[in-house]
This record gives sequence, C-alpha cells and structure tokens, in this order.
Amino acid sequence: MGGHAALARRLGREHADGRLHAQAATLAARRTCDRVPAVTPDNNPSAEGLQVAVRVLCAFTAQAGNLDLRFTPSPTAQDGVAGHEAVTARRAAPYQREMPLRSRFGDLLVQGRADGFDPAGPRLEEIKTHRGDVALVRENHRALHWAQARVYAWMLCEQLGLERIEVALVYFNIDTRLETVLTTWHTADELRQHFNDLCSRYLGWARSEQAHRRARDALLQTLTFPFDGFRVGQRELAGATWRTHSHGRHLLVQAPTGIGKTMATLFGALRAVPAQGTDKLLYLTAKTPGRRLALDALRLLQPTASTGRLRVLERVAREKACEHPDKACHGDSCPLASGFYDRLPQARDEAAHTAWLDQAGLRTVALNHAVCPYYLGQDMLRWSDVVVGDFNHFFDLSAHAWALTVGEPWRVGLLVDEAHNLIERARLMYSAELDPLTLAALRKTPPKGLKGSLDRLHRFWGTLGRGQAAGQLLQNDVPEGLVGALQQHAADLSEHLALDATAPDVRVQAWLFEVLHFVRVAEVFGDHSLVEITRTEAAARTRAPRPRLAIRNLVPAPHLEPRWQAAHSATLFSATLSPMDHSIHLLGLPTDVARLEVPSPFDPAQLQVRITPHISTRYQDRAESLDAVVAVMADQFHAKPGNYLAFFSSFEYLQQVLARFAVAHPDIGLWSQSRGMAEVDRSAFVARFTDNSQGIGFAVLGGAFGEGIDLPGQRLIGAFIATLGLPQVNPLNEQLRARLQLKHGRGYDHAYLFPGLQKVVQAAGRVIRGPEDRGVVVLMDDRFARPEVRGLLPPWWHIERFERG
Ligand code: SF4
Repeated sequence: MGGHAALARRLGREHADGRLHAQAATLAARRTCDRVPAVTPDNNPSAEGLQVAVRVLCAFTAQAGNLDLRFTPSPTAQDGVAGHEAVTARRAAPYQREMPLRSRFGDLLVQGRADGFDPAGPRLEEIKTHRGDVALVRENHRALHWAQARVYAWMLCEQLGLERIEVALVYFNIDTRLETVLTTWHTADELRQHFNDLCSRYLGWARSEQAHRRARDALLQTLTFPFDGFRVGQRELAGATWRTHSHGRHLLVQAPTGIGKTMATLFGALRAVPAQGTDKLLYLTAKTPGRRLALDALRLLQPTASTGRLRVLERVAREKACEHPDKACHGDSCPLASGFYDRLPQARDEAAHTAWLDQAGLRTVALNHAVCPYYLGQDMLRWSDVVVGDFNHFFDLSAHAWALTVGEPWRVGLLVDEAHNLIERARLMYSAELDPLTLAALRKTPPKGLKGSLDRLHRFWGTLGRGQAAGQLLQNDVPEGLVGALQQHAADLSEHLALDATAPDVRVQAWLFEVLHFVRVAEVFGDHSLVEITRTEAAARTRAPRPRLAIRNLVPAPHLEPRWQAAHSATLFSATLSPMDHSIHLLGLPTDVARLEVPSPFDPAQLQVRITPHISTRYQDRAESLDAVVAVMADQFHAKPGNYLAFFSSFEYLQQVLARFAVAHPDIGLWSQSRGMAEVDRSAFVARFTDNSQGIGFAVLGGAFGEGIDLPGQRLIGAFIATLGLPQVNPLNEQLRARLQLKHGRGYDHAYLFPGLQKVVQAAGRVIRGPEDRGVVVLMDDRFARPEVRGLLPPWWHIERFERG
C-alpha cells in the first residue's frame, strides 16, 4: 500500500471532533491499517461515467451490524505502512505487489490496487496490520476486510482468466512480526456474484447522486445574489472570491466588519462550483457564531424547489451531537450504535433528500432511524455539497475531511472565516502535553492488569530532565525512547480497554487519548516545534513527581502547507490580517497567494481615535499608570456618557484599574470579565450593554469579548485599550522570535508586534458596526504614537493625539 496518500488516509480516516474523541476514533478505526488503493480513481459517482474505488464500494455495501469503536490496540500510521512492506518483502518471486486492477459492472467502473498476488497459488492477499490479539479485530471490520479481498480476487480472476483462487486475509502484528493468515478458496463464479451483488447495491445510489450533482450544478449556474444590491465592498469581495475559486487559486482578504463577508464569499465560491467541478465547499470557522452566520447565509442562497437543492451539512463536535454521553460507541453499550450499519442506508437516503442538515435537521433524521447523529453526519460528509464546520474539521491531525480530500481525491474549495485565528488554533492542534500527576494518580490505584505498564512508563519518565533544576527546559528533539515507551504504554492501555469494553474506565480512556495525541504530535515533530520539560521546585528537590512534558508548536506552517496544496482553492478572510506576510509565513500559504484589502465602507468621521502619549502600560510602569488610565476613562465617560468596553493586558492589571476606578468614580456602573467565565456569565456580561444602559465593561484583550461580539448603536459607543496586546516575553516566544528572524526577518514583529496589534484592531472593531454608528477608541500607551505601530492600524482611522496629565 502505499505512499503518502495511503498514509494520509489512515491519519484522517476516523476523525471525530474534539481532541479526545478524535483520538478515540483514531484508535478504534486504526486498529487495523487498511490497504488503500494507491490509484486515484474518481469516486465521485456524479461525474460522467460512474467510477468507484474498491474501498468506497465495500465501505458502502459491505458494512453491517453494529457501529463498533471499541478500543483495540492500534499501530501508528507509519507502522501500518511499514507492516505492509514487511509482509510483501517476505514473499518470493514471482509474487506481485500493489497490482492495479479495474473491472466493470454495467456503466460502473471499479478500480483499486491489490496488496499482493502469488501466481503460484494462485493466491490474492489482503494485508492488515494490528497490535495485540488478532481476536480483538471486530466482526464487522473483519467482514469489511473479507469483502475487499473478495472484490480484488474477482478482479484478478477476470483479468487473468482464473477459474479458482485462494483468498487470504493476512493480519500482521507489528510488535511480534507474526502473521495470522485466514484463507478460503473461491471459484471465479462465486466471486463474480459477490462483486455483482455489491455493485448492483451501489449503482442505484450512484445514479441518484449523479442526478443530484447535475441538478445542483444547474442551480448554481443560475444562482442570484439574494439581496437587492451589494453593500460597499461586498461586490468586490464576491468577485475576487469567484475569480479565485474559478482559477484554482488561494486568496487572502482583509475586509472590514459590516460588509457582509460571509454572504459575499459563499456566493462567489458557489458560483464557481459548476465550471470547476468542485466536489465540496468547506466553510470553516473558529467559533460557533461564525457557523451560525454561514448557515443563515446558505439558507438565503438555498432555493425552495425540492430538486437541485444544495446539500448543506453542519459538522459539530461529537460531545455536542452525542445522544448518550454516558455510553460508549459500540452496539453493546449505545442503542444508536447497535445495528447502525443495518439502518444506515435508509437514514442516508432520508438525509440526502432532506438536504438541509444543520445540527437539528441531522438529529431528526438520525433519530427517525435510530442511528447516531454524529456518525450519520460523518457518513454524510461524503454526500454533501457544502460543509460548515470548525477549523479542526480540515486542519487537525486527524481531520476526516482532509483525509477524504487527499484519499478520494476530492476537488475542494475552502472558505476560512476569521482566518487570523487559525495561527493560534493550528498551534494548539499540533501541540501536546503530558501531566505526570495524571500518571501518578493512576499508579496510586492502578486498574487491574495495568500496574506493570504504568510502572514502566513511570521509570522511563524519571530518566527525563534528570538533574534539571526547577524551571523550564526547552529542547530541539523529542527525548530518545520516549515515543517508543509511549507507544507501548498506549498499546497496553488499549488492550486493557478492549478487554473491558462494556464499562470502560474513564480515567484510563482519558489518559490513553492524551498519550496517543502526544505520540502523533511527536511523530510529526520538526524544527517548527520545541519540547518543553518543566520541573517544579518540589519535583526538583524530591525527584517526584516527574517533570511535565510538552511539545509546543511554534510555527504551524509546515503542517498546514499540505492542506493548502490539497485544496483546489481557498479564500481566507478576516478584518485583521495586517500585515499579510505575517499570515502567509505562519500559515504556510503558497507564495503566490492573491491578496485583497477591501477598503472600509465607514466614514472616518464615524470614529474618533485618540492616543494618550503620557501613559505607558509596560509591565514596569503599570502601577504608575493607574491614575492616568482611570482619569482618561472617566473624562471620556463624563464627556459622553454611554456604554464602553475597556481592554487590559491581564486580569491582574484589569483588577488594579477596576479597583482604583470604583473608588474614584462610584457613580459609574462597572462590570467585569472574570477568569474562566462560564457561558452563561459571558452572556450576562454582553447583556449589560443595552440601548439604555451606561457604564464600562472591563475585559482582557484577546479574550472572549475582544472579537465576535456585536454591539451596534448605543449598545457600545467607545473602547479603551490599555495595552499593545504584545504576547508575554518568555523563553518560548523568544525561540519563536529567533526562528522567525532567521527565516523571514523582523522576528520581533512577527512574534510580538503583529499578533498584538491584530488583537487591538479586533477589539477596537467592536465600536463601529454599521453606517449609523458613531464612537471613540482611546489607545492608552505612548507606543501607539510610533510610526511602525500606527502603520499597523487601519488606514481609515483618523488618529488624534490626546495630551493629559
Ligand atoms: S450516541 Fe453517543 S455514545 Fe452513541 S454512538 Fe453516538 S456518539 Fe457514541
């Protein structure tokens, strides 16, 4: 099997949303590494002539019974590839590897690549790698493996004119290097009947998909903008998006809030779909409100006719879609997993006809057929036209949509909303941590059968950071032996959970997810990341507990580059992408990415921007700044009473100003963000801003209220920003600065200034939301007056200096 496409398929085959669930699904579905054809058949049944890959045909038709994502020992993706190579290397000539095969059933062309063929048998081999006891391979997975093997066997019989053939499933244990071989003989006639049966079951669906695709494209060719006219800047953005997606390019757009970016980009990209033969448009957001906006826009673009409708699918995290959070994803535990594949065809059929599959719509269909909404959604990803989801649905290590894009392959268009957030989100996706206290807690009351494994890992962990004084050690390499030790430990944990699958120990399960994620991040470690070993004072003195281990991604570009390459086209947009080189370097965008800056539709007279050069909010000056900050805020409030937001660099600074302000001006209403604020408290914070209220809401820059909240009109008439938003100077950020300096120059700006100013502009952007708004932004730090800083502020701002004190 081979190569990168196969590897990528394995990496992403079983993505579930959210890190923990992603790991669970990864483990379950990777327990055997499927052979994936290295050919690139067009699996899109809607193209002229119907084609399908063996893998897709079998997954569609040969799965029956329960959904079963029980924990079983899994090889890593690389191990899977190596395992296939190890098996075929053992076979002597004239054994043939990776045989490309194709067969027809009526107008359906089936293609694939058989793992191995021994003409002496003659014997067809289908190879699967695994860890642990081969008996743990679930029955429904084994049935799928047999189906694939038999389809290849028929294709061989047909191609070579064989009358009989031995069909072998070879399970290769990557730890013991032992093979378990299951064999059966079939006549060509039996295999042909099996092949015909699968194809005839697939063909009806494929034809209806072909009809859907034609109707969809006809609809999109005549799609009209759903409003009477475009807003200022909106037509320009829609046109640029259309050109980008029509030419298979990538585009980075900075466009101000309020011009209707969501509608403009969706309209432009959808219009390009028919001519480009785009399979799917993925609209990816950082936060839930962005998903809602996209769905609202798509509803307006969706015609009411029952034919030719777009199939729109909303992807949400598994914990949000799960109907039985107290259960496990297999038929012995969850009623919606029991018989899942038996009822999936009917559920899929209804979902396809329903077309509008937001979270509620998908849930209704799923429950009509007693199947899990989350896994029905995962299946419908393949059959949808527009998918609205989170960044992680395409950019995460295990992203299912990414794996299918590469593996099928699909022609995919991306719309990336609030793209400035992708840098930080991607860093998190490719970072991992292991807490020694979790291991210590498990060792204190070890689950039966796991004591030895926990102790072994504990001993190995003790060799890390040995002799290290308290503090943080940054390394350029993953410590030798760590990945192997964790892999072995993960296999032990997996086997334990597999044997006790009906009542999984949640502690073991959670720990396994963390270990697996760490291993996967370690496997793609490079000079874009650092290993951080942190030893507390107590640990340094006592040698226990072990140090905290982390892999911190600094530059996500190398991880994201293949994602942009796999996408046919992409438009990334945000109100704050200045300077664009920063985003291009850190996101790994192609160097020829097109750039567009849509001018603000707002009149500079709508926003008064003032700088206070007598205030320094530098860390060492903060205590001295309190009275001046309070005075500026109070003066502004008294000059124009109303609703204001005040942003600070930290909760500590916020509290100091808040306390001073409350004493000095008890007549002014104040409310404040708190650490780890619950969703309900956040809503209450925002609800304080009404058309009739007056007061100042205190918040931390870059937090929950610095972007994504909409307070038009009198609900917000001004913002105070008492910080440049610069990230903390610490060893990690200094490493980032040094690396970016080496690679792109302007290391300080890339590591500190640009991300800081993006947060400032985002926060200030809360004030003017429409043509009727009027307001003020007070930038409270002398550094805002510097030309290099002012150059990063929106050009339409008319900035005044403000002297006081
Ligand atoms: S309902 Fe929940 S527990 Fe059941 S299969 Fe779906 S995600 Fe798993």
